[in-house]
Amino acid sequence: MPSEASNPNSSRFVGTIVLRVAEIFLKGANRKVFVKQFSKNARRLIADTGAELEVMYLRFLVHYPEGKKELVLDRLQRLFGLHSMSPAILVEKDIESIATEAMRQAKELPAGSSFKVKTNRRDKQFPLGSMEVSMEVGGRIHTELGLPVEMRKPDYEVQIEIGDTRSFVYTQTIAGPGGLPVATAGRVGLLLSGGIDSPVAGWAAMRRGCVLSAIYFHSFPYTGDKSKEKVLELAKHLAAYQTKLRVHVVHFTEVQKQLREHGPGDLAVLLYRRMMMRTANKIAQAHHMKALVTGENLGQVASQTLENIGVIQDASEMPILRPLITYDKLDIIAKAQEIGTYETSILPYDDCCSLFVPKHPATKARIADLVRAEEGLDVDALAQGLANDAEEIVIKA
Ligand code: ATP
Ligand code: MG
Repeated sequence: MPSEASNPNSSRFVGTIVLRVAEIFLKGANRKVFVKQFSKNARRLIADTGAELEVMYLRFLVHYPEGKKELVLDRLQRLFGLHSMSPAILVEKDIESIATEAMRQAKELPAGSSFKVKTNRRDKQFPLGSMEVSMEVGGRIHTELGLPVEMRKPDYEVQIEIGDTRSFVYTQTIAGPGGLPVATAGRVGLLLSGGIDSPVAGWAAMRRGCVLSAIYFHSFPYTGDKSKEKVLELAKHLAAYQTKLRVHVVHFTEVQKQLREHGPGDLAVLLYRRMMMRTANKIAQAHHMKALVTGENLGQVASQTLENIGVIQDASEMPILRPLITYDKLDIIAKAQEIGTYETSILPYDDCCSLFVPKHPATKARIADLVRAEEGLDVDALAQGLANDAEEIVIKA
């Protein structure tokens, strides 16, 4: 049976972060799997900080040592499945210790802030009821610090939790990244270009529990070493959510040239994309990926039409997930900035689809036109060759 850590107030730790999970609660029979993965991911993210995770039933506490609070909070922003968190101080389970700590924290609130005290008493043996605790502590803060009590919309809530062997006091709740723990949904292959969108799409897939591998189509020398370095840099950002990330670099130049020479110019981009999908399918099958992910969006550029999306999907046996399909560009940019990929994405190196691109790419292509354009090419063998020759690079977080 899980128990509380033997000495959570040990001198190694100066504070505790109370974690709250959201959707994990909805998981019924699968809950155990989710809790286990969530805990494993949390431990991995804080491993080098000296902090420790304690799990009691569905309560998660991270105890941190001196000077590590900000680092630990920052790491926990990569813990998918985390709804919110509160830096708290653990105190003995008596009203004096609780009130003293609540007063200390209330003193740190901005002058004149309104507040209310909220108490959650899980230990039903505790001599005071939760209302009594709130009134006692709230009364002292009000009298001694002169802060106004506001029950409906306080600036701050001073929260007290009375557990089985100890209590916590905290005033701050920070939003977590939400979603579901990485690795509860299976492995997917992210088509990662150097653009703004695909890293955000990868982040969104991880946020719903996927583990990423990346597939990048490189057209050396038309896209230079700088383009590849840029993609590997983006991969490093994404690896931070899952410790490591394998990037499959496909050397695309020769096949891209063949495709361009083979079909009508206005279909070139779609011919490249279908070949990318076929190749990605082969890599995915060989590496236990269950779906592909792209940064495609509806209408962001003229060629991103429903017709073209259908033409691209037609070349893939695997489902293609497009997490950003309905997002506005500005929202994607804001997310890229938030997760730290934006600055790298806007470096000015070309990606392979801006090469050999006609002035007026087809916007309403039909599958039959593409099938005709591919006649006489052994597309399957070409894709197999590209997949076989792909270079594998493992990026560590
Ligand atoms: P991004 O910002 O991700 O490059 P984009 O808005 O530039 O996307 P496109 O260039 O049309 O859109 O690409 C759509 C999607 O196709 C990309 O999000 C990515 O998933 C995939 N893709 C494009 N080029 C490459 C490439 N060289 N290697 C791997 N995937 C690619
Ligand atoms: Mg692009």
